[in-house]
Amino acid sequence: LGEKSQRLFPELESYQHFADKISQRKLFQTLGLPAPRWQVLESASQKSDLPFPFIAKASRGGYDGKGVRVIHSTEELQMASRDFGLPLLLEEKVKLKTEVARGFIKKSDGTTAFLPLVETLQEDGICHLVQYPANVSDKVKSSVELAIQKLAQSSLVGIFNFEFFVDESENVTINEGAPRPHNSQHLSIDASSVSQFDLLAEALAGLPFS
Ligand code: ADP
Repeated sequence: LGEKSQRLFPELESYQHFADKISQRKLFQTLGLPAPRWQVLESASQKSDLPFPFIAKASRGGYDGKGVRVIHSTEELQMASRDFGLPLLLEEKVKLKTEVARGFIKKSDGTTAFLPLVETLQEDGICHLVQYPANVSDKVKSSVELAIQKLAQSSLVGIFNFEFFVDESENVTINEGAPRPHNSQHLSIDASSVSQFDLLAEALAGLPFS
């Protein structure tokens, strides 16, 4: 392989944080981002510190809510650890008002283009509708902005989209990130003069962002 064909975007060191939901939580904690309370369940006999009901998540392989379960009892927790495998990520169940997403694309020289804030309306763990502009308060917008700036100023290089919870008091906590173009930004194909895919192509080709 030539030198160029070995280049990866997102860079491997950035990508690896997103290989599982537990390492993502650790990255977000290192960056000081507000998050729901979380805990790693390492063994089936371990007790949770979180009050019922809480959320159990498969660390790897989940998507569209598969691998996410609301847990009401010790029996349900044992069932989830059997079905999803260990380690399991446990999270406080956020009283959701809505969910939002925002992303960015950053080249290795630090040049960054930001993707717009969108509201992601979920049904059963699946995003059914993306609303742009996001119908959220200035408080929510500035909380997301603060988080996205911290993420963009970190060592991450590549295209990333992040999902956030907005609770009933309009507190914003980070849910997860995706190191790739994301369904929350597919509307940029039709709605924007520059889509997330255009930006990715520009980054890959070493062109300036439009
Ligand atoms: P996936 O990777 O399958 O999309 P997510 O972690 O994004 O899994 O969870 C899917 C959906 O489940 C979220 O969009 C949200 O609606 C709900 N959910 C996930 N975690 C929590 C939580 N801690 N509190 C409340 N709802 C949650």
